[in-house]
Amino acid sequence: MRRYICICPALFLVSFSFLLAASQATAADSVPLKVLILDGQNNHDWKTTSPILKSYFQQCDRFDVEVATSPPERHDMSSFRPKFADYDVVVSNYNGNAWPKQTQLDFQAYVHNGGGFVAVHAADNSFPDWPEYNQMIGLGGWEGRAQHSGPYVYFRDGAPVRDDTKGRGGSHGSQHEFLVTTRDANHPIMQGLPTSWLHTKDELYDRLRGPAKNMQILATAYADPKQRGSGREEPMLMVIKYGSGRVFHTTLGHADYSMRCVGFITTLLRGSEWAATGKVTLALPTDFPTAKKSSSQK
Ligand code: ZN
Repeated sequence: MRRYICICPALFLVSFSFLLAASQATAADSVPLKVLILDGQNNHDWKTTSPILKSYFQQCDRFDVEVATSPPERHDMSSFRPKFADYDVVVSNYNGNAWPKQTQLDFQAYVHNGGGFVAVHAADNSFPDWPEYNQMIGLGGWEGRAQHSGPYVYFRDGAPVRDDTKGRGGSHGSQHEFLVTTRDANHPIMQGLPTSWLHTKDELYDRLRGPAKNMQILATAYADPKQRGSGREEPMLMVIKYGSGRVFHTTLGHADYSMRCVGFITTLLRGSEWAATGKVTLALPTDFPTAKKSSSQK
């Protein structure tokens, strides 16, 4: 089933020629991008959410998608060695045991040499002791992260703040719907999105810490103390440069109902296209959420 969410190049030519011009889509944009989703271990229900993530890429002619599933937790991981270099973008729904050293080196080389990487929600909990991975995700949480992991980073008075205060990295309050606010409207992933949009029920990650080098925050959300949040404008969507590679990090996506948000889906697909190519040709769906009303794909 091909859904509205993807305004693929063929459709651009018919109905969205103005967007084609704006995005400078080329013939190369009609070649599907190869996506690899990683899963197999997570403190979240990856067996439910990976097929949902996969379905979003399948709905869009821009992508061809495959899944690499690791051995279960506390099993021999030595056989887990996906051929990252065969893909344009790797999407992690993985939070679990350390990968074999050679798999780590393969992944570092893949991203450093220009591969795309997308970290979804608890993927930023993973691998607290792998410095290069933490460079890629910019910020992470839990699993022993604290001041040695890097500063807290959040927005105050409209600008990013790096805060070296001591304390644990990673927390969240009650799940609820919350506003996501654009902080860089000119970034290709964000172009055309409303200034603020209401995200469906999710965990609002706060107090993340990390090296946050070469990182740009695209969107934040207010972690309301009434919901047991930090009281800060916390980063929700980020991009990070790692070598020649591009990383898109979304903290959104705790559960299936969080991932069904049209805002989550749109930024996931646009972020994946951008991580793979540095450009975005995917238009906004007509049912994108507004500041007053969230929107879910059924
Ligand atoms: Zn979660």
